[in-house]
Amino acid sequence: MIQFYNVSKVYDNGVKALSDLTLHIKKGEFVFLVGPSGAGKSTLIKLIFREELPTRGQVMFNGKNIVRMKGREVPYMRRKIGMVFQDFRLLPQKTAAENVAFALEITGASGKEIKRMVPEVLEQVGLKDKGHLLPSQMSGGEQQRVCIARAIVNNPLLIIADEPTGNLDPDTSWEIMKLFQDINRRGTTILMATHDSGIVDTMKKRVIALSNGCVVRDEESGVYRCEL
Ligand code: ADP
Ligand code: ADP
Repeated sequence: MIQFYNVSKVYDNGVKALSDLTLHIKKGEFVFLVGPSGAGKSTLIKLIFREELPTRGQVMFNGKNIVRMKGREVPYMRRKIGMVFQDFRLLPQKTAAENVAFALEITGASGKEIKRMVPEVLEQVGLKDKGHLLPSQMSGGEQQRVCIARAIVNNPLLIIADEPTGNLDPDTSWEIMKLFQDINRRGTTILMATHDSGIVDTMKKRVIALSNGCVVRDEESGVYRCEL
């Protein structure tokens, strides 16, 4: 599903964020991306979403070379990816249901489809009776559920989550992780950048560790930190 071939990224200011990176992520995998601040995690995510282009190397997503992809193809590619952020990024003047509906509207869904899909997805994330609430009326965990609903409503191939539990307490974090696991079990690939060592160590998923723009560890059923 995702292939990086000898990818390097040097920003305009000369900072080398990724260095000759090669990695493959298969459909249906659940992958944690770990590493210290500045290791290159966000850059890797931006390359997949084509917010940045590599300085060298190729990036493939869903069988397409997204470096060579034409600009007008980019929105279609991005629809196959659901993004979830640490700071939620919900539209504050829209209710939970409207936030989810908006994600459908921009892909051209009909009013009928939206009416059918929004309650279904809100129920899937455990917000059946909360569609009418504004983000400010919801707890952090609930806001993150809305973000997840928004990310999955277009049935993406891949969910990229950047520190999704970074603003949540441990119990709420676990509830959110159960939701991601549930989504993964339904076949969606998940790539999650996180600093939450408890979650990584408990879930026993693939762990890709970056340091200074290089993969320093890539383990099936890995842990957050291998050095003691
Ligand atoms: P992480 O997400 O692991 O913290 P980043 O990918 O954000 O790592 O950053 C990797 C390196 O690239 C860091 O040294 C960071 O300062 C630098 N960097 C990130 N984005 C930019 C940018 N837009 N311009 C210049 N340097 C950047
Ligand atoms: P948490 O356990 O994450 O701290 P909160 O105490 O913030 O949760 O919220 C508990 C419940 O109260 C949630 O179901 C939320 O929807 C509801 N709630 C919180 N703030 C408001 C508000 N301003 N208006 C309406 N409902 C609210």
